[in-house]
This record gives sequence, structure tokens and C-alpha cells, in this order.
Amino acid sequence: MLDYVGLEADLDEEERLIRDTARRFVEEEVRDDIGQHWIDGTFPTELISEMGDLGFYAPNLEGYGSPNVSETAYGLLMQELEACDSGLRSMASVQGALVMYPIHAFGSEEQKERWLPDLGAGEAVGCFGLTEPEHGSNPSAMETHAVKDDGEYVLNGSKTWITNSPIADVAVVWAKDRSADGSPVRGFLVETDRDGVTTNKIDEKLSLRASITGEISLQDVRVPEDAVLPGVEGMKGPLSCLTQARYGIAWGAIGAARDCFETAREYATDREQFGGPIAQFQLQQQKLAEMATQITTAQLLAYRLAELKERGDLRPQHVSMAKRNNVRMAREQAPVAREMLGGNGIVADHSPMRHMANLETVYTYEGTHDIHTLILGEDLTGIPAFQ
Ligand SMILES: Cc1cc2nc3c(=O)[nH]c(=O)nc-3n(C[C@H](O)[C@H](O)[C@H](O)COP(=O)(O)OP(=O)(O)OC[C@H]3O[C@@H](n4cnc5c(N)ncnc54)[C@H](O)[C@@H]3O)c2cc1C
Repeated sequence: MLDYVGLEADLDEEERLIRDTARRFVEEEVRDDIGQHWIDGTFPTELISEMGDLGFYAPNLEGYGSPNVSETAYGLLMQELEACDSGLRSMASVQGALVMYPIHAFGSEEQKERWLPDLGAGEAVGCFGLTEPEHGSNPSAMETHAVKDDGEYVLNGSKTWITNSPIADVAVVWAKDRSADGSPVRGFLVETDRDGVTTNKIDEKLSLRASITGEISLQDVRVPEDAVLPGVEGMKGPLSCLTQARYGIAWGAIGAARDCFETAREYATDREQFGGPIAQFQLQQQKLAEMATQITTAQLLAYRLAELKERGDLRPQHVSMAKRNNVRMAREQAPVAREMLGGNGIVADHSPMRHMANLETVYTYEGTHDIHTLILGEDLTGIPAFQ
């Protein structure tokens, strides 16, 4: 696998083990079937608990069954999963960074004990409800709200584009608490079998097809007062979760690009035209050279991010830069790999076109490329281009 500047040399034993476990899991359990899942628009749900057994959900958290592995190990895990498919990485990202993380960081002791072991083991599935039909890039304008009534909260509103909502047991729903001064955004743990919750699946996606996406509709949904995450108020709740998930995406996107590169390199050395492998032609070598260079620079940024995160110096803007750069890099390189495969590049037997389509989602979710540009713009100038 491409590691042009020998980053592997700095990995410790645990990091290698986690990377190799994820790589083996992908090769033995998922790789052969993922193209068909993508065509069918299904996720291999039978693997959810196996992924839990292997420790793929938030292993960088501490306690409640999570081993607190290094941020590099977590990043390598995301990279290996996305080398298979962005949908596989999305499963681990949502469950870990968007559901387990907020419970771990902001939940009560009871909430942690109730949910973290089950979510970590893949015995329960979670989803993260922030985006609404009318509020994507500007989630602070959300309309979903909660009102206290007779010792309970009553939730109303709708969320859309929610990864895993149709198969989730619990949703972390972000809503404005209209019973509190200023209606702050709060996180609510909502079991999806409560009266008034519906989670319709969104069909006909042309991207991230091997991932289940849906809506969450909340109509007079009553939850106990202790369903609220007590440790956070305001947009820093959902935004801090997104920073965790975007960190994983910055690593994951490299996996998708690396898989495109490896597929193209192998194809170019095997495929013969004009009496020899197409890899002998300078035009093809130029493409591989550029791809390898782009992937390597993205890897360096990801490794640096891990160091900063490990020592507590990582800022959300660092993560914005890496998510923005690494996803753009993968999105630009995937079509180059597809092109190198000629006609074979458009069939599902080969991964580049699937990655190419998936990366449209990765470019869009967790803050669009544009929004990360504006976050960096504000950080660099001190002038916000949006509120
Ligand atoms: C497959 C999939 C899975 C998803 N999973 C989840 C999930 O699990 N949970 C969840 O909460 N959400 C999820 N999302 C939603 C995702 O985060 C949103 O799609 C994303 O935030 C963008 O919002 P939007 O689609 O409403 O686009 P919009 O916000 O309407 O943006 C449309 C376009 O306008 C641009 N734009 C917006 N504002 C500005 C501005 N100020 N300046 C310049 N350009 C701007 C955007 O960059 C974009 O190009 C998912 C999305 C997809 C596609």
C-alpha cells in the first residue's frame, strides 16, 4: 500500500495491529460484496456487531468498554474502512464520533452506562440528527424544538439526510429547548421506537449507496427530562461532535484515494496496449505520480493532526483545513483512476467510480467544502463571511 515517505516506521505495535485488523476485515469480509451492496443500495447490517467486536466504534474514547487507542490508530482505522467504501467508514464515524462521543462527553452517568457499551459492541445502532430540510449549512437556525410538559420534554420537528436513521435504536436529536431562556440548542437521546418518531429511508441516492440514509420526523414525541444530555448547551454541542467526525473523514478520504491509486497502478501494469503495459506510457505515469504525491501530502497532514489532537492542541480550524484538503484531493484523484481503467473503469467490479460517486457525499456532509473554506477564511482574516 502506498506509504511513499515511510510513515509506517513511526507506528507503534497497537497502531499497526489496528490498521492490519481493519485491513484484514475489509479484505476478508467486505471487499467482495461491497460493489453489489452499492448497486442494491444496502449496507451489510450483519457486520455491524462484528465491527463492534473488532473495536471499530470510537476506540479512541476511554472507559465504558472503549480502549482509548491513539488518535493515529483511530485515523488509520478510518483510512482502512474508507479504502473499502465511504459507507463503511460512515457507519463507524456516525456510531463513534457522532453518537458515542456526545454521550461520552456530555451524557449523565446513567446515559453512559445505558448506551456506550451497547453502541460500542454494535448491539445498538445510533444516529445523529442535526440537518433539517430547510437548514443544512446553517444548523443554528434549526426549527426542531422541545418544550417541557408535566415532567417530560415534548419534541417536534424534522431532520433529514440522517445516516442510519432507518436502522437506529437511538437518535441524538439536536433541538431548541423552548422552555429555557434564549431557547438554547440541547441534545436529546430519543429511542426510535417512541410514539411519534418515524424514520423514512431516502432512496435513489447516486452516492454513498452502501449506507442507509433517512429522515427523522418527530411529532409530539414525549421523552423523560433525563433524556437531555446534561453536559452541553448551544451549538458547541453538535459542532464538537462534528469536529471529531471530520477528523476521521480527513483520514478516511485518504483511504478512498489510496484504493483508487492502488487499483489504477495494478491495472496499468497489467493492462497491455500497443505491445506493452499502459504503465509504460508517460501520460499514465504522470497520473500515478500526481496521485501518489497528492495522497502523500494528505497523509502528512493527517498524521500531524493526530499529533495535535493527542496533545490537546488541535483546533476545529485545523480539522476544517484537513477535511477540506483531503476530501478535495480524493474527489479530484478518483476520476483520474477511473479514467486509467478505460471502459472497465465504469463497472462496479472496480472501485474508483464507486469511490468517485461516494466522495460527492463526503465533500458535502460534515460541512461542505465551501463552509470549510469560510471557516478558514475567518480564521485567517478575523472576518466572518457568514454568521
Ligand atoms: C448521504 C448523506 C448523509 C448525511 N448524513 C448526515 C447525518 O448523519 N446527520 C446530519 O445531521 N446530517 C447529515 N447529512 C447532511 C449534510 O451534513 C448536509 O447535506 C450538509 O451540511 C449541507 O447541507 P445542505 O445539503 O442543506 O446544503 P445547503 O446548506 O443548502 O448548501 C447548498 C450549497 O450552498 C453552499 N452554501 C451554503 N451556505 C453558504 C455560504 N454561506 N456561503 C457560500 N456557500 C454556501 C453549500 O456549500 C452548498 O454548495 C448527510 C448528507 C448526505 C448527502
